[in-house]
Amino acid sequence: MQRPEPQRPAADRRDAVALGPAIADWGLADARFDSLFHSLPVPALVVDALGLVRTANEACESLLGVPRLRAGRPALMRWLLHADDRTRLRMALDNARQGRGGCVDGVEIAHGDEHRTVDLWLSGLAPLQGEAEVVVTLIDQTERLHTVRQLQAAHGELMRQQGENRQLAEVARLTGQLVMVTDPQFRITWVNEAFCRLTGWRSEDVTGRTPDELLQGPDTDRAAMRRIREQLDVGLPVERTEILNYTRDGRALWLLMDIQPMRDEAGRLTHYVAVQTDITARRAAEEALRRSDEQQRALFDAEPHALLLMRRDGGIVHCNAAARVLFGIDDAQPAPTLYDRLAPEDREAVGRMLASVVLGGPQTLRLSVIRSGLDALVPVELHGVPVLRDGGVGAVLAVARDISDELAAQALRMQHEEAEAASRAKSRFIARMSHELRTPLNAILGFAQLLEAGLGSLPQAQKRQHLTSILGAGRHLLAMINDLLDLSLIESDRVSVDCRPVALRQLAQEALDLVAPMAAQRGIEVALVAPHAELQAVADPVRLMQVLANLLSNGVKYNRPGGRVELRLARLGEQACIDVVDDGIGLSEEQRAHLFEPFNRLGAERRGIEGTGIGLVIARRLAELMGGGLGLLGATEAGSAFRVTLPVPARADAAAPPRGTVRQRQAVPPAPGGERHVLYVEDDEVNALLLEAILARQPDWRLTVARDGHEGLRLAREIGPDVVLLDMQLPDIDGLQVRDALAADPATAGLPCLLLTADATESTRQSALQRGFIGVEHKPLVVDRLLQALARACDAPRV
Ligand code: ADP
Repeated sequence: MQRPEPQRPAADRRDAVALGPAIADWGLADARFDSLFHSLPVPALVVDALGLVRTANEACESLLGVPRLRAGRPALMRWLLHADDRTRLRMALDNARQGRGGCVDGVEIAHGDEHRTVDLWLSGLAPLQGEAEVVVTLIDQTERLHTVRQLQAAHGELMRQQGENRQLAEVARLTGQLVMVTDPQFRITWVNEAFCRLTGWRSEDVTGRTPDELLQGPDTDRAAMRRIREQLDVGLPVERTEILNYTRDGRALWLLMDIQPMRDEAGRLTHYVAVQTDITARRAAEEALRRSDEQQRALFDAEPHALLLMRRDGGIVHCNAAARVLFGIDDAQPAPTLYDRLAPEDREAVGRMLASVVLGGPQTLRLSVIRSGLDALVPVELHGVPVLRDGGVGAVLAVARDISDELAAQALRMQHEEAEAASRAKSRFIARMSHELRTPLNAILGFAQLLEAGLGSLPQAQKRQHLTSILGAGRHLLAMINDLLDLSLIESDRVSVDCRPVALRQLAQEALDLVAPMAAQRGIEVALVAPHAELQAVADPVRLMQVLANLLSNGVKYNRPGGRVELRLARLGEQACIDVVDDGIGLSEEQRAHLFEPFNRLGAERRGIEGTGIGLVIARRLAELMGGGLGLLGATEAGSAFRVTLPVPARADAAAPPRGTVRQRQAVPPAPGGERHVLYVEDDEVNALLLEAILARQPDWRLTVARDGHEGLRLAREIGPDVVLLDMQLPDIDGLQVRDALAADPATAGLPCLLLTADATESTRQSALQRGFIGVEHKPLVVDRLLQALARACDAPRV
């Protein structure tokens, strides 16, 4: 390291150079030299030719250290810290001995623990006792050099600060921010170019004036300005405060300002520096954004559909008034998640929907919303669309719609459509029924007219043929009416079935027996295939018999001579299967499509095969009533197969024997001895004539006819008949009332009464029996049957 060059003041050097020769001149021998040498205020010492110290004055001792100086003859070199200083000192000592004094400057010596910088002035002394000596005077330069260095540093700092200030001034002048300097009274002392450019004020116009009078305008926040003043008054800076100011020509100028109070070294306030940024554009953008946001929110809130802005996790970020009503969200409550409002089974579906919206786009879902205060769930349709933000899906916007009314309207529409379909079906049914009823009626009336016209002239055989036709058509009409009645009872749920375990084999055999005569007549073989002798089904045996009879008779009717009908029993799991398989005429695809339509005989009427077209419909409904079913297993042109399925009993209960399934035709009982008198209360003349004709052929029977209820009561009292046959619908009182009146009168109370009615319902039969009728017979009457009933009534014990 280079040691700094010592700066020697000229006066110092002159004194020291002068001192050496002066001492030499006085001579060493002189005692005065000693006293002068030692009293010198300047550190000095005398060394020999080798530089060893001979003597040193007190000032020198204090500089170099007494103990070391007085210890023997120390070498001056030892105090010098640097080798080059020692070299320079040796050269200077040589010169001094030869009479050339000189100076070794800036020598660093050790002083205790410190270093000191000294100049060594050397001057030769006249040799004493032949030994050359040199006086060395030490001028301590340490303090001076220190001061010089400090001055240099201060000068450098000054220069740097000046440079910096110049730079700062330039920056302040040229910066895009508004810079304003005021005195402590806020009077402007300096503004930069940006200030002038942005406010429209020239520098010379603003100097000496306050920013308040130049920049404030109608909407400047006075309270904020007051707070700024108060803050500055207590010596605090103002930081990042936004204030609305105005340009010279009155345009709004939003400024973000920082004001710094500046002080001198004594802490006195000298001025304020305000640095302000023009944020007008930003504020305008913010304002525009705020307005657009407000507009959007207003639109969002005014939208009649419920709108929900949701996070992916179902949390509701924002929802409009309609959504609050629909989902029952309270304004005061923190925003719930959508899941809180859903029926449990819908929560998972909504989670999946939100995930799908995020991944794949818009989705629609129907769900049920729980609304507090409402017992019922509100059906809602939720349509979710992704809301993009920062290039990704930030949220989901859901449009929700209460679809209660829509669903109700839909249900109503469906009901209406069903009702219309039912009404159309009913109209079709009635049209078909009317057609089907008119057909036999046509035959009856037609043949009856022929008979009437040719009563005297027609040959007997022809008359019989016509009568046979009338009877056939009448029976057909009756069968149809009975089927219709059955169907209407089933359709109006007025048929009850009495189901219990039934042994199928026995019942199937009875059904086969029933159709056996008909099959034999047509040359058709019928057979039972029942590998499981014990197979049972839960069924009403009477109704099951009806079903099987229908299927078997169809198998026989729609067959060809030499054909075969099989009744097969099998168990399939928990079901008993009863299949009726024939190898008859079968069914085409077109026919199969219309099977089970009431009255649709699928063209069988053209083949002259008897039937009503309702049997299969009734059979299927009965099978269903018993908990089973009936369907077509298959059909080709080579035959058909129908299957009845029924549940099997839970355990093998003892099967009840079929009851009342086969009605044996009974012979008319022989007339007992003596005449029997029938009182027939009937307003219809034809019916009265019919009974008259029937009884005319029975030798022991006599008939009296009453035309209304009251006449019936009178005649009953007068003639005392053996039996009273009552019609239900009479012109004055009905048949039940006549029966009540007869029972109430002791003269007639014991008379047996029979009801003859066209109303074949079970309820009518029951109420007639309860009112004391001995039996009920139906119109159209079956002659033999009626005669038997009349005979039984006459024989019944009188009450
Ligand atoms: P129908 O009184 O006419 O027999 P059904 O309701 O029992 O009335 O049957 C309806 C129609 O189905 C019949 O008219 C017939 O055309 C057809 N059909 C029923 N069973 C069979 C069968 N085993 N083979 C062929 N056709 C059948």
